[in-house]
Amino acid sequence: MKFRCPVCMYPEMPYPPDNYHICPCCGTEFGNDDAFSSWDQLRRSWADNDAPWFFGDPPPLWNPWKQLEDAHYSHEFAIRWGDPP
Ligand SMILES: [Zn+2]
Repeated sequence: MKFRCPVCMYPEMPYPPDNYHICPCCGTEFGNDDAFSSWDQLRRSWADNDAPWFFGDPPPLWNPWKQLEDAHYSHEFAIRWGDPP
């Protein structure tokens, strides 16, 4: 079973976004990082850092802006759309 990260919208999280699981994509630790910041805030700060992949190597052809677009969040980051990953 896969879960979608509510911060970066990565759709392949192996664990649900709670109980101190860490998203391999944006690195959010659920229950810790999101205890004092909203998911929206975490998403913006991740994007402000050019949306880096957190753990190891990203999947082939992974594109954080495409990932956000697929989840209909691209309007928040429209200014970045078209930038190279
Ligand atoms: Zn994430």
